[in-house]
Amino acid sequence: MNNAKEKNVGIAVKMPSQQCQNDKKCPFHGELKLHGRTFVGTVVRIRLQKNALVSFERRVLIPKYERYERRYTRIMSHNPLCLGVKENDKVKIMETRKLSKTKNFVIIEVLNK
Ligand SMILES: [Zn+2]
Repeated sequence: MNNAKEKNVGIAVKMPSQQCQNDKKCPFHGELKLHGRTFVGTVVRIRLQKNALVSFERRVLIPKYERYERRYTRIMSHNPLCLGVKENDKVKIMETRKLSKTKNFVIIEVLNK
């Protein structure tokens, strides 16, 4: 782990161009390990404390009408500062260990650049 720039996070994503400091919860420069599910969603809201609310659509079948209803899942995820995420960005998030009361996902890639 001497070469932090080449660190393999376990999934094929671009390394952020910036380096963040003192963020243990950053999957690239910290100690965070990734495992589990990945989703692609839109950043709805960015809060202090490196939190970002990510939302994506899912479809639920309503059997009575044989139609799909659009519902939205919202996931609070960690926002590493090195990625430079802004609101309304399309991002990829991945599951990780529980980071706080409401967070167990982290943003790993910005897709609209
Ligand atoms: Zn970082």
